[in-house]
Amino acid sequence: MAETVPRLEPLERRPLTDRTCLVTGSSRGIGREIAFELARCGANVAVNYRSSDAKARDVTERIEENGETAITVQADVSDPAQVERMAADIREEFGAIDVLVNNAGITVDRTFEEMTYEDWQAVIDVNLHGTFNCTKAFYDDVKTSDHGRLINISSVVGQQGNYGQANYATSKGGLFAFTRTLALELASHGSTANCVAPGFTETDMLETVPDRVREKIREDIPLDRFARPEDIVGMVRFLVGDQAEYMTGQVVGINGGIEW
Ligand code: NAD
Repeated sequence: MAETVPRLEPLERRPLTDRTCLVTGSSRGIGREIAFELARCGANVAVNYRSSDAKARDVTERIEENGETAITVQADVSDPAQVERMAADIREEFGAIDVLVNNAGITVDRTFEEMTYEDWQAVIDVNLHGTFNCTKAFYDDVKTSDHGRLINISSVVGQQGNYGQANYATSKGGLFAFTRTLALELASHGSTANCVAPGFTETDMLETVPDRVREKIREDIPLDRFARPEDIVGMVRFLVGDQAEYMTGQVVGINGGIEW
């Protein structure tokens, strides 16, 4: 008997039309590219910023010029009260969200010998407490959504450690354990939690690294260049989309082949 061959459906052009996504720290850098990409795929996007009002507005204007929908929402993610206010602003505009991308992050680099408690606290406050605060505020949204996704932007530094980054490496390593745990707790609701761990990426964050150190880092990257924000966004798009609904609790490295 002749085998029936399934029809090949054309790819969906705007596969995320029925999703609302919040991307923290998306007025620039990797977060901005994620916001652009999710909007390009049809999602409603909330562009969070701490103080760069004009840059965040520029992101939403560019999205709207493209015929898609976005709003800017201010909040310092390290402040639970500001995050709660942001959640209310988003709900008023879009209702519940489906996707939370915890992207906001900072570095305060010093050797451990030189590192003060304030240096430590500042990084933990944004990178870990900020992730806690946002996940807490939007947990029910992600849990009850038919397309619930929690995506945490970690770093290869959380996998390897890095000279002068005890605070940052610890915060990014903590995100792996957080993601894994949330994946287990969200699983019975059909929602997922995953971590994207970029390698060294050409953004303002990398600009703070002295030239000499940057060159040394680049020499150790097998693909012989730093990542660009565009290298990171495809994985986030995939994780948000329907094809990733069976993928959870994972750390996906995008780092040019750095071994860890
Ligand atoms: P970036 O400095 O350009 O962007 C960070 C964004 O977070 C900025 O928009 C900043 O305003 C925002 N932010 C910082 N503190 C905030 C706060 N308290 N509340 C709200 N927003 C806040 O750097 P980036 O490279 O785009 O970093 C994005 C994410 O990617 C970070 O989590 C970073 O740790 C991670 N990452 C970066 C690299 C890299 O080499 N650039 C590598 C791996 C992972």
